[in-house]
Amino acid sequence: MKYFPIFLSVQNRRILVSGGGAAAIAKLRLLLKTEARITVFATRPAPEISAWADTGRLILAQRGLARADLKDAALLYAADEDAAQDARIAAMGAEAGVPTNIVDNLDGSSFLTPAIVDRDPVTIAIGTEGAAPVLARSIKAGLEERLPQTLGILARAAKAFRPLAERLAPGRVRRAFWAEYYDYSGPKALNATGEAALPDALNALLSRHMSAPTPVGRVDLVGAGPGDPDLLTLKARKALDAADVVIHDRLVTPEILELARREATIIEAGKTGFGPAMQQDDINALMIEHARVGAHVVRLKSGDPAVFGRLDEELDALTAAGIDWQIVPGITAASAAVAQIGQSFTKRQRNSSVRLLTGHDVAGFAEHDWRALARAGEVAAIYMGKRSARFVQGRLLMHGADPATPVTVVENASRPDSRLRAVTLADLPASLDGVDGPAVLLLGLAPRAAQPATATAHPKELAL
Ligand code: SAH
Repeated sequence: MKYFPIFLSVQNRRILVSGGGAAAIAKLRLLLKTEARITVFATRPAPEISAWADTGRLILAQRGLARADLKDAALLYAADEDAAQDARIAAMGAEAGVPTNIVDNLDGSSFLTPAIVDRDPVTIAIGTEGAAPVLARSIKAGLEERLPQTLGILARAAKAFRPLAERLAPGRVRRAFWAEYYDYSGPKALNATGEAALPDALNALLSRHMSAPTPVGRVDLVGAGPGDPDLLTLKARKALDAADVVIHDRLVTPEILELARREATIIEAGKTGFGPAMQQDDINALMIEHARVGAHVVRLKSGDPAVFGRLDEELDALTAAGIDWQIVPGITAASAAVAQIGQSFTKRQRNSSVRLLTGHDVAGFAEHDWRALARAGEVAAIYMGKRSARFVQGRLLMHGADPATPVTVVENASRPDSRLRAVTLADLPASLDGVDGPAVLLLGLAPRAAQPATATAHPKELAL
């Protein structure tokens, strides 16, 4: 190790930057995150730097750095982007004993600035001793993705709670408490009610761990998206990484199940609109049974669990059984479908609302506000609409819909075997022959390419 990483205390200390251009700005963006007093020396500062000075975020000296400025400085950055000038500044720093960095010049610098992942007070510094800045950036990108933005807030609340947590036995028991806080209880409380809820969440968790230090099961109701694993949320991926038991719908693709932890028990709940189905009560019982013995259960539903996912029935059952749960939203099939045809659900001057409909519900074909839906320009996504297509068509035409209204059938949205059919309301039922994957019917939308050019370049719209 040629360089030894440390975290330097800079609160209220002076950091000096010589230079007023792009290199200085890049460093200042980092330095402004600290509680240091920053002074910039630049005869011709960039507007950003002047603006920071105007708002009191730094002190701007519109002159060159002088020896006397270096007294008591914690750090010095030579960022004039001029080799000779940078070397002069660095020599002054060395003479005054102030650690000095020349931007983008490793050999002339006495310290280097690492790549930083900032979840203040959690800070991760990545350095490669100048060997591989690209690698440092990719490590940083990986960590940025993995560490939730809220980690810092969680850590701040945890710091204040540490004395109380010492009531738990050190070692395994205390580790289990903190693990559950960071992985679950903390993010959940933060999500529901914000930072102010964290002390209560910590207290509740502590009393539970004091009385029952064994793991307590829980259920995450997770949206798996429309099928493409790349459309999973990071939260969904993390839940799959951690799950002991995954109970999934038939529509969840094998590629997504592949991502579950190797040791996880995978159970297909096999619920479909018309096919053989595990009863809802059986699914509820299954989740409860596993959570009761301490398992982390992921109830994996296609798309978004809150869209035609019978979510409420499952939540009611879990709540009645006293089991903790949280919902992880997903990308619903209609969002994937509309993206696939290059369209937007809402559009100025066309429609300011969009409906998600089901073709049938428990009582049979589902009734809707057909008159409103029949109006020109309306857009709706019809789920589970294959069998009810004739019924939907009949109702819409009866309420005055134009038979030429575009309808796009998107089968297997987001999957490699996806198929599109651009039709009109007049030939909707017939055009569904041979559709055997899950399909969304986009009422009022044609694929963008199939639209006449004038429709998208309407002068009125351009003027908006
Ligand atoms: N919760 C899911 C919907 C479940 S209901 C969601 O948010 O997407 C099941 C219906 O969803 C299917 O009948 C079909 O209409 C639709 N669906 C699910 N996945 C789909 C996909 N990949 N492509 C098209 N439609 C899909």
